[in-house]
Amino acid sequence: MVFADLLLYICAILALLFLWQYYQNQILAGHIKAVDIFDRSGIRMYLCATPDDGEICESCREVNGMVFLPSRVARSEFTPLRAACSNKGRCTIVIIGLYGAWPEASQVVRQLRAAGRESFVHLSFEELVGLTKGSWQASVSAATDHLGVGMLAALCSENKDPEVAVSGYREIIQQAQEVHNLPLVAPAYLQLTTLLERQGHSEEAVALIEDFEKRYPQNKTGPYYPTKIQRGLLTIKKSHLRTALPSQPPPTEQTSPSGVEDLTIKSAT
Ligand SMILES: [Zn+2]
Repeated sequence: MVFADLLLYICAILALLFLWQYYQNQILAGHIKAVDIFDRSGIRMYLCATPDDGEICESCREVNGMVFLPSRVARSEFTPLRAACSNKGRCTIVIIGLYGAWPEASQVVRQLRAAGRESFVHLSFEELVGLTKGSWQASVSAATDHLGVGMLAALCSENKDPEVAVSGYREIIQQAQEVHNLPLVAPAYLQLTTLLERQGHSEEAVALIEDFEKRYPQNKTGPYYPTKIQRGLLTIKKSHLRTALPSQPPPTEQTSPSGVEDLTIKSAT
């Protein structure tokens, strides 16, 4: 009887492990919306942020600091934009999921819930910076929010302290594994490439783009894969950067991915 009971428990554990693996595969294959897992992971708010690089169009700049409830972001028609991006969708907008257990973030969650399901809270740039400087590391959500806060700090630092931004983006590229952090990776590659290019580190920027290309092969797609515009921007950046490298001849042929033929480099050198 004891052996039979033990066998039953083992079978139950194996079945649960199988179900969990199946669920993860469904998420990564895009059959389950990212926000479904976000809700189960305890994400309490989504914060929209743009880089402080002076190159964001007016429509996209307006969404910087907007915070929404997960139930609002879960809708298929959700967009924080009130007007279309006048930069043909090339501006970087990152939607960061946070639990936000530290005092400054908890206050935002309370404001958001008080505002109602259809509303949102709009934080100023100073309030965004204030969130990153709060005691998030001592909160119970530190592990969940670590890379989200890092992304927010990097976006807010591009202009004033680019080295902080560089190290923040690197950390996201190297460490993002949890499902709720995967949407941060492609924007981190884009922004880090732009910063390295701006600092004159062309060789390093090219190597970073090659790393991106290995991580996201052209023939693969998924819910957390880069968009055509993001791929196109990095392809064009790579072409410009390689041309600028003194020791390497320019590529003989460079084709743009479909849909990005009219793109130009925002920060062309
Ligand atoms: Zn824009």
